[in-house]
Amino acid sequence: MASRPEFWIAAAAASPLLSYFLGRLNRWAGAAAGAALFASASFMLAGEISRGAPYAALALWTVAALAHSVMLNGGYGAATDRSGLEKLLARAAKLQGELTLIKTMTGLNAAGEKRSLAVYSAVRLLSDTVEPQSAAKQLGKYLSDYFETEEVALYMEGNSPGGGGMELFAHGAKGSALPGYPELLALAGGFPAAAMAVKGLVLAPVSAGGAPLGLIALRGGQQGGESAARFAAEISFALKRVILFRKVEWLSLTDGLTGLWRRSALDEKIREELRRAAAFKTTMGFMIADIDHFKHLNDTYGHQFGDAVLRRVAQLLKEGVYETDFVGRYGGEEFGIVLPRADSAGVLRKAETIRARIEAEVFSQGLEKVRLTVSIGIAHFPRDGRAPEEIVGRADAALYAAKEGGRNRVLDAANL
Ligand code: GH3
Ligand code: MG
Ligand code: MG
Repeated sequence: MASRPEFWIAAAAASPLLSYFLGRLNRWAGAAAGAALFASASFMLAGEISRGAPYAALALWTVAALAHSVMLNGGYGAATDRSGLEKLLARAAKLQGELTLIKTMTGLNAAGEKRSLAVYSAVRLLSDTVEPQSAAKQLGKYLSDYFETEEVALYMEGNSPGGGGMELFAHGAKGSALPGYPELLALAGGFPAAAMAVKGLVLAPVSAGGAPLGLIALRGGQQGGESAARFAAEISFALKRVILFRKVEWLSLTDGLTGLWRRSALDEKIREELRRAAAFKTTMGFMIADIDHFKHLNDTYGHQFGDAVLRRVAQLLKEGVYETDFVGRYGGEEFGIVLPRADSAGVLRKAETIRARIEAEVFSQGLEKVRLTVSIGIAHFPRDGRAPEEIVGRADAALYAAKEGGRNRVLDAANL
C-alpha cells in the first residue's frame, strides 16, 4: 500500500467530505469518521511525510477542512443559513414594496394621462368646432372623463341679445341630476369668484379677463375644486371662442331690431318642420301677419316710432304663440309664424287672438299714442300643399285677400 501513496493522498483529501456528509446525519460521528480516515491515511503516508514537505500542506488543508465540516454541520453553519434566508426575505419584501409602488405610480400616471387627454381633447373640440351644439355631446364625455363622474355640467353664457344668464351647454350622462343654474347660483350666493365646494357640489367659474364665461358644476368623482379650477382655466379661451362664434351665428340668424328669426332662418324652419310633419304624419300651420297702413304711421310719427312699434308687435306675436313655435320677421312690417303640429282650427283661433290683441294695444312714445291693426293670412300642411313654396304662397294669397277685404282681419287659405 505504501507503494501507492496516491490512494492515501486521495483518502486524506476526501476525509473532510466523509466528515461533512456523514456529519449531516450526525455531526460528531461524521467528525470521528473523517478524523479516522485522515489518521489512517496519515499513518500510511508516514514514510512519505518523513521524506519531504508537500504532504504537510495536504495535511494542513485536510485538518482545516475537517474542522470546517464540523462547523458547517453545527450551529454556526445553520446560523449563517438563517441570516442568508432572512436577507433574501428582506430583499424580496423590498422588491415587493417597489413593485407595489411602481404599480401605484403607473395607475396614477394612467389616471393623470386620461385627465390630460380629456382636457386637451376638450380644448381641441372647443377650438375647432363650427357647430357648438353638436360638439356639446362629445364635450360632456370629456367632462365625465376628466372629473371621473357622470354628474357634471358646463353652463355657458347665453347668446340671446338680452343676456339672460347662463344656459346648460354640455353635461355628463347624469348631468341633469344636478341643480339648475339659478339654484346653483343661489347655493353659491352669486356667481362664484373662485372654485368652491358647497352641499356636496364642486363649482368652478370659467372666466377670461375677469368676465364670467361659464360655470362647471359636479358631484362625486375624485376631483376637488383645485382640479376643477385647472380645467376651467384650460378651456376658458376656447370657450370664449365658442361664445363669440355662437353670437355671430345668432346675429346672422336673428333680426337686430326685433330679435326674431330673419327670413332666411324662418324659411329654414319652414322646410325643417314640413319635413318633420311629413315624416311623422303630423300637421303644421303657417301665418303671415302684416301691419295695416304702416307706411302712414311711419310718415306721420317718424321711423323711430315706427321701429318701436315693430319691436312691440314682435313681442306681442311671440307672446301670442307657444315657445316651440317660430316667429320671424319676414319683411319690413311683415311677420311669419311657423306652428308645428297645430291643427287648422287652432291656428285660426290663435291668429284671431293675436289680431284682437294688437288691435287693443295702445302704442305710445312720449306723448304719442297710436293704435293700429294687422291682417293675417293662414295656410296649413298638408291641406294647402306639401312644398314650402306652396304653403308660403297660400298664406301670402290669404293675406292679400284679407287686405283686399278691408284689413284688420284673419283669412284662412281654405276660404279663398
Ligand atoms: P298695407 O296696409 O297695405 O300693408 O300698407 P302698408 O303701408 O303697411 O304697406 P307698405 O308695404 O306700402 O309699406 C310698408 C312700410 O313699412 C314701408 C316702410 O316705411 C315701413 N318699414 C319697413 N321696414 C321698416 C323698418 O325697419 N322700420 C320702420 N320704421 N319702418 C319700416
Ligand atoms: Mg303693411
Ligand atoms: Mg308689407
